[in-house]
Amino acid sequence: MWIPATQASQLPVPLLDLKAQYEPLREKILEAVTRVCDSQRFILGPETQALEAELAATLGVTDAIGVSSGTDALLVALMALGIGPGDEVITPTYSFFATAGCVARLGARPVLVDIDPVTYNIDPAGVERALTPKTRAIMPVHLYGHCADMDALLRIAGGAGVPVIEDACQSIGATWHGRQAGAMGTAGCFSFFPSKNLGAFGDGGLVTTQDAALGAEIRLLRGHGAQRRYYHDRIGGNFRLDELQAAVLRVKAPHLPEWTAARRRNADQYRALFAAHGLSQVVLPVELAGAFHIYNQFVIRLPQRDAVKDYLQARGIGCEVYYPVPFHLQQCFQDLGYTPGAFPHSERAAAESLALPIYGELTEAQQGHVVSTIASFYEAARA
Ligand SMILES: *Cc1c(COP(=O)(O)O)cnc(C)c1O
Repeated sequence: MWIPATQASQLPVPLLDLKAQYEPLREKILEAVTRVCDSQRFILGPETQALEAELAATLGVTDAIGVSSGTDALLVALMALGIGPGDEVITPTYSFFATAGCVARLGARPVLVDIDPVTYNIDPAGVERALTPKTRAIMPVHLYGHCADMDALLRIAGGAGVPVIEDACQSIGATWHGRQAGAMGTAGCFSFFPSKNLGAFGDGGLVTTQDAALGAEIRLLRGHGAQRRYYHDRIGGNFRLDELQAAVLRVKAPHLPEWTAARRRNADQYRALFAAHGLSQVVLPVELAGAFHIYNQFVIRLPQRDAVKDYLQARGIGCEVYYPVPFHLQQCFQDLGYTPGAFPHSERAAAESLALPIYGELTEAQQGHVVSTIASFYEAARA
């Protein structure tokens, strides 16, 4: 596992290496793309239909609707539930922007809640406190690949009589006490952005539901609210998934379990490496009992985060801060009226967390290099 420093320093470690995943699938993907090109059917054709059926089966839902992105998955799910001005939707303050952005775009108010510092996911007790008569939905995020506490959230939502929309954009294949991310709430939203565990060759997304009426409404809204062409029952949008993306995703989707297994192996390998280096000041991600983490990101917390990040990047090691600014401190949400200090766990996570490379094709040598470089930072700092 250990390689001489001189050799290791030659190794570049990108945060993500999509070429390594593409290479063995190249032929099959090009075949699928050619099939679509030859058919000249680019919008809502047999590839999208087949992908929807295949993913509904693997995700354990009755309906899966291909859409244009993870952002549009969230947007169209909220639209289908009739959320708009005067409504409140509870979301964590610490996530990718789209989670709260979609709520605000519909004229509704994102009501922000702090995270549980262990899993980085929305704190159910905070959700309970944030409920008001105007609450129309609870939108937890299964951040980094680990599910939020869905038992508590479904209980709270059930008590309040509001739907749960799962932002599962980072968590395809993750489970919580045997149930799949995106199959527990009223609707589940997925992203096929290239950096997600199942990535398209561009943008794409999916909404899942077990509610036939809601599924039908989402399909209607996906195509400008028209059942019959040019006759519009609703004001929807163009939220369609392309046939080319669907064809690529159909080749990739069957490999997801093995890619997830590789990410989980790499997570174990990091744990062993951090332990071997005695880096006790580094807090590693946690997989709660009953949870199955899919490690879309491997996020650690560490002292002098920004200095470590610069140190790694200067040595060709990819790493990134997800997310440096929680929603309540974003410029565009100043009118929500939150102040610094309002959500201390999220603010701390924003200041201390760093994502390391975790993609399946990462080698042991590369991981060894990442961890020994972090160790050398702290040694140099001590000296
Ligand atoms: C990626 C992501 C989205 C948005 O997905 P896009 O496909 O990029 O629009 C939404 N929420 C979370 C938590 C995400 O990670």
